[in-house]
Amino acid sequence: MEEIILISYLNDFIYCPASIYFHKLYGSMEPTLYQRDYQINGKDAHKTIDEKKYSTSSNVLQGIDVYSEEFQILGKIDTFDINKGILTERKNIVTKIYDGYVFQLYAQYFALKEMGYEVKKIRIHSLKDNKNYNIDLPEKNVEMRDKFLKLIKDMHEFSFDNFEQTNKKKCEQCIYEPSCDRSLLC
Ligand code: SF4
Repeated sequence: MEEIILISYLNDFIYCPASIYFHKLYGSMEPTLYQRDYQINGKDAHKTIDEKKYSTSSNVLQGIDVYSEEFQILGKIDTFDINKGILTERKNIVTKIYDGYVFQLYAQYFALKEMGYEVKKIRIHSLKDNKNYNIDLPEKNVEMRDKFLKLIKDMHEFSFDNFEQTNKKKCEQCIYEPSCDRSLLC
């Protein structure tokens, strides 16, 4: 059986598949011990959701677990307005729409659909400047949908033993570099 993929690992995998190993390793540690400021701020963006403070409306799902059997992916959503069909993922500050942001929403979207919800709109919300960025649904952006499907396939087929990093710049900016035996800075 294929291993279940956590939605929160999609971005890590795009950056460097090896970083997922360290993400798992440091997952239970106090974040300030190893994370950079921007990552801690990003986590703060999710704090109110994790503590379920964002909305008390019963029409808004918040911080719930979602699962897709088709893709074998599991994770949490930020908010989903059932009546409006709007799925929102909040970020602390959005300066660019990275593919990882889009794929995270796609994963949540497919999982919600499998769970029987009608998702009409997906978007990213930038908290600091209070801006919304609408994202095309996967059906409307075939190129991104295909990239998402390839990412999920690559993750399911990934072998750590055969992995070699080829981009030195990534290692130079990587928070896990001091512990990583695949680093190109060694
Ligand atoms: S140091 Fe380089 S190879 Fe290791 S996890 Fe970071 S980016 Fe990947």
